[in-house]
Amino acid sequence: MIVLGIESTAHTFGIGVIKEKKILVNKRDLFTTEEGGMVPAEVADHHVDVCDGLLKKALIEAKINMNDVDLIAFSQGPGIGHCLKVGAFFARALSLKYDKPIVGVNHCVAHLELGSMLFDCKDSVLLYVSGANTQVIAYAGGTYRIFGETLDMGVGNFIDAFARYLGLGFPGGPKIEKLASKTKEFVKLPYSVKGMDVSVGGMLTNMKRKYSSGVSKEVLCYSVQETLFAMLVEVAERALAHCGKKGLVLGGGVACNKRLQEMCKIMCIERGATLYVPPNDVLVDNAVMIAWLGLQKFSAQGRGDAYNSLKIRPYERTDDVKVGWK
Ligand code: AMP
Ligand code: MG
Repeated sequence: MIVLGIESTAHTFGIGVIKEKKILVNKRDLFTTEEGGMVPAEVADHHVDVCDGLLKKALIEAKINMNDVDLIAFSQGPGIGHCLKVGAFFARALSLKYDKPIVGVNHCVAHLELGSMLFDCKDSVLLYVSGANTQVIAYAGGTYRIFGETLDMGVGNFIDAFARYLGLGFPGGPKIEKLASKTKEFVKLPYSVKGMDVSVGGMLTNMKRKYSSGVSKEVLCYSVQETLFAMLVEVAERALAHCGKKGLVLGGGVACNKRLQEMCKIMCIERGATLYVPPNDVLVDNAVMIAWLGLQKFSAQGRGDAYNSLKIRPYERTDDVKVGWK
């Protein structure tokens, strides 16, 4: 089956096409601003502006036309309502025009299930660290469960907020990673793991205070990576232990960070688990994972979703997803 995926939960508008497990094309267009930050209506305007052009390019690159598509899948939530609406509307319009079945899927679950497409790992824990989302998710007892999450800010947003404070620009993650590689001098920062959850607000305040009292950018960047990633690895490891699972999949833009990958690798080796790191272009928000989860859902249901169930779900929690395809 050929599946066309559409992603529009936040700044990325993406079109991906897969044929079973083969990626035919993975295209994306990112909303960007000089100042950083996102005004929902402006991001949605961006998605409206690029959607048809990106689809045309994707079809050419995949060497198919819309008649070859067997299924349309779109991200139904969670995300920014304005942005989700553009993807949902575009998907529905294509479904109606070309008479194709359509399914809506959950973006966070799509990051997890991508592991089964890329690596054939059936039942892993996902460490999902993006701008807005920080969750440790696994499938257990018939549903997707959040085993740990941030109690305040998403880890990516936290990194970006600190980078903005240092005047490094947006996105801050890659710049922090580069500065961190210049030293091994460590200053102690608040390490905040509460049960299975993490909290980063205190660390942001503490780092700002240290910076104004003369601690260098490099030392702070190194220390934040060591502290923050250790917190994430601790929670991910406890989820692996609790679920008795043997695989850890990474997802989200922050997971592009090589030091985070290295720390996860060490933890997995020590406990006899396997680490699965998708390539960067599918670690970040992408429509290939949407297409893949759409295919799972469609295959299990034997049909597309009813049109009256295609409303966007901006606040959908991972543990609210009704699972009919496992
Ligand atoms: P996403 O929301 O999944 O698109 O991820 C975006 C977030 O990933 C932003 O907050 C970036 O700063 C962060 N990010 C991207 N690359 C890196 C990196 N190498 N290290 C840390 N964070 C990163
Ligand atoms: Mg994402």
